[in-house]
Formats: sequence, C-alpha cells, structure tokens
Amino acid sequence: MNKTKYVFVTGGVTSSLGKGIIAASLAKLLQERGYSVTIQKLDPYINVDPGTLNPYEHGECYVTDDGAETDLDLGHYERFLNIPTSQANNVTTGRIYQSVIDKERKGDFLGKTVQVIPHITDEIKDRIQILGNTGNFDIVITEIGGTVGDIESLPYVEAVRQLLWELGEENAIVIHLTLVPYLAAAGELKTKPTQHSVKMLMQSGVSPDILVCRTEHEISESIKRKLALFCNVKQEDVIESIDAKTIYDVPNLMLKEGLDTVVLKKLQLPSDKLPNLNAWNCFLKKFKNPKYTVEIGLIGKYVELRDAYKSISEAFIHAGSQNEIKVNIHWIHSEELNVEDVPGKLKHLNGILVAPGFGGRGIEGKIEAVRYARENNIPFLGICLGMQMAVIEFARNVLGLEDANSTEMDEKTPYPVIDIMEDQKDLTIYGGTMRLGAWDCKLENNSKVKQIYKSDMISERHRHRYEFNDTYLEQIQNAGMIATGKNPKTNLVEVVEIPSHPWFVGVQYHPEYKSTVLNPHPLFIDFIKAALEHSLK
Ligand code: GLN
Repeated sequence: MNKTKYVFVTGGVTSSLGKGIIAASLAKLLQERGYSVTIQKLDPYINVDPGTLNPYEHGECYVTDDGAETDLDLGHYERFLNIPTSQANNVTTGRIYQSVIDKERKGDFLGKTVQVIPHITDEIKDRIQILGNTGNFDIVITEIGGTVGDIESLPYVEAVRQLLWELGEENAIVIHLTLVPYLAAAGELKTKPTQHSVKMLMQSGVSPDILVCRTEHEISESIKRKLALFCNVKQEDVIESIDAKTIYDVPNLMLKEGLDTVVLKKLQLPSDKLPNLNAWNCFLKKFKNPKYTVEIGLIGKYVELRDAYKSISEAFIHAGSQNEIKVNIHWIHSEELNVEDVPGKLKHLNGILVAPGFGGRGIEGKIEAVRYARENNIPFLGICLGMQMAVIEFARNVLGLEDANSTEMDEKTPYPVIDIMEDQKDLTIYGGTMRLGAWDCKLENNSKVKQIYKSDMISERHRHRYEFNDTYLEQIQNAGMIATGKNPKTNLVEVVEIPSHPWFVGVQYHPEYKSTVLNPHPLFIDFIKAALEHSLK
C-alpha cells in the first residue's frame, strides 16, 4: 500500500472564497483519475461542533452517517465525491481543546505544562493523520477554515508547518486560495492582497506550493508571472479560478487550468491517466439544458440565508438535472405566511416543501402552507420539522383536534401529536445529544415511498428530539394519513403519507443529506416529477 499524501488548503485575503469547492473539485479530479481521496475540514472556532450554532451564524448543520454534526462544506465533499464522510472529517478548535483537556485530567501528560505548542499542535497533527492512517486513502485533502492571519488559525498553520517538515515535500503540499480583485477605476487586476497574504503565511514558516487565484476576469500570463515572482512559486503553479455560473463547473475549470496535474507532479504521483468526467458532464449537460421548469416553494424561517438550506437546494439541482427539469425555488418566509395571504403567495407553485427547523418561530405559517398543499392537491414534501407540521395540520384540520401541537412548541397542548422522545426527556446537555445519524427504516408494502425507493429497507440520516406520538397513530391513520415507514426496532414513525392526495409525503429524516451529483435522491426525483405533472395540468 502506498503512503498517504496530504494536501493542505489555506485561504487568504477574505473569507468565503470557496475553499470547500476548490478542495472538492480537486478531489473529484483526483478521484476520477483513480485515486482514493477524502477531504477534511478544520474549523478554528471554539464550539465543539456546529450542532449548537444558529443557522444564521454558519449556515446549515450537515449530518454524517455516523451522526457527526458538521460544517456544511462536508455536504459539498459528499456531493462531489459520492462517498460518505464521518466524524473524523470535521474537527473544531473546541474539540481539539476538549480532548487535550480530557487527557490532562486523566494525567496523560505526566506532570508536564500543557501548552499550545506542542500539545494542541500535536492533537491537530493526530487529527489530520487519522484519516490517512486508516489506509483507505491515497490522498487526504485538509481544508483549514478561516483566513491566514486570523489569531484562531495560528495553531493550525503551525501544525501544517510541522507536518510539511516531518512528511517531506513529496508527501505534503500547500495550496493557498486567494483573491485577485479587479479595480474597475484602474481597469486592472491587483496582485498586492495576494502578495500580502502569502507574506503572512510565510511569516508562520509555510510557503505555498500552489496559488489558486479567485478572480472575476481572466488572469493574463504577465499577471501570473508577477504573482509567481512575488509569492515564490513557479508560474505554472499559479492557477486561475474564475467565477463560475455553478459550483459544478469548477472541476472542469480546474482541469483546464491543470490544478490536478501540478498537484500530482509535486506529490510525485503518476498523472498519465486522465480524469474520466463523463458521468459528471452528462449531469452538467442536462442541468444546463432543461426541457421543463417547475416552481417549488421552500417554506422556512431562515430563508434570508440560503446556506441554511444548502443540502436541500443542491438536492433539487441533482434531481432536476436527472429529470431534465429546471427547479425554480421560491424562498418563502414562514413568518410572513398567514391564512389570508397563503393562496396569493402559494397558488403559482407546483410543489411545496416545508423545511426542517427548531423552535416555535414561524410554525403557524408552515402549518398553513401544509394545509394549502393538502387541500389543493399540490405535491408536498415535509422534512423533519416539516413532517411534524404535516401531522399537526392533519390533527387540527382533519381530525378537529383544536390546538394540537408538538410539545416542543407548546408543552401544555391538549393534543401532543408530536412529543419528545422518551430517551430525550431527562437530558440536560444539548450539544450532540439529538437522535443523530443513519437509522434503518422499514417501508410498508403498497406505499408510495416503497415504490419510490424500490426497496423495503432504507437507511437515512436524522437530527431531531421529537417524534410522532403513537397514541394518535390509529386515529390519524383511520382519517387517511398513513405511517408508511417505521424504525424496525423502536417502531418510531419515520414516514407519513396521504394516499388520497397525488403526492403528499412527510419524512422525519433528512433525505437531502444523501443526495449527490451522481446519485440524486429518489424522493427528490419523484417529488420533482410530481411537480412537473402538476405544472402540466
Ligand atoms: N425541532 C424538531 C425536533 O427536534 C425537528 C428538527 C429538525 O427539523 N431537524 O424534533
């Protein structure tokens, strides 16, 4: 077995340059050349994981099969590479410190003074090498969150410096992602911010091997030469990353610029086999040349920040392309929906998705949106909280259980049709204690979901504390909403459907986390198909 090689991705000048997309695109090219690759993200914040963060702070919290609550970049890694990530793929400063402090309390440091160097940096180095040490990967790409120069990133950059020295230049390299801004008044691309950010990196003892330069305009050879000269890299190692219409164009752009070739050359790995992007390009072709259009309403309370629903909007892109349908998402704020204006705001839609969420804000709007979809035969998909809202709406408006609710929103509701899970009742710690990760679900014969998944046993990812209250199951089923998917061990209701409606499905799990470019999620594919049928009526 070959020794694992490491690629570190740092960022300079500003945040939000898309390190995750560059890392994922490079990984895709290497994967399609036959290398086994994974990507890891190191986040310099003190939270142990993003699970306790408000989505407004950091966008969506992504969940892996093994139940890690992670940064949304892990979603990009999975969507590009089509292989699952795990707990080891996302590490925060909080987690690093937590484990160093636990070791100190156990006496593992034998009386030594515990310090950032070497104890924190050693822990970072161990976390970086955990994936490589599994023996499953030829190449591990590690993205360092934040921007070079941030106080928080310093221990990470120092750990990278040490690893570069320990592993040797043919085994570990640094890609520095930077911004080359265009000054309209001068009509010029400016290299100075990049020079400064590379200088900053060098002050920490790390010299980049490759520069990837984000830009709005083409970078000429003379600018590349200037960047190379002042940043101490070869001209061929200055890679342009021009703004793309879609993130899914980036692998092709990086291929054209030869990013994968220079990486392989530096790591002394063969580059004779070219990447096979046939399936990827087939997806892109269909995505860019849709035959139809559907209008989907995404009802949520964080819609001002689209990143809060990243996996859902990407899942629509994958499923849309598969069906050759352009999915227009209408972002609808649930707090701005009420009985009177629901028809006006929702009547042009061909499908309604009620999004996941926590807490009471905006839930009455979500319930009204479910009602409109149910009563007007508009295809409906409810995810997690969205499924719970569908059950509440049905209990209130079909069964007449006035004020039915989830105990999350109203502890004293007379009809707690959604209630806290038994094993959650006595919890006092909120971080990492939800029902998380992949669980099996058995689908009923003759159900829509079984037809869609073409299987009776599925596994999907979860992130919740509340569940369908079985006390109401019979009453709800007798009235026409059927539980068609259950956990085989606990009998927890995972899927509800209304068979008399053209397409009405609520799922307690998050199908969006498992949708990838090459493997669009069957529920999204079928939902979009149903929306198309609705649009043609
Ligand atoms: N707040 C709900 C629960 O905890 C739903 C969570 C979600 O939508 N992810 O059960």
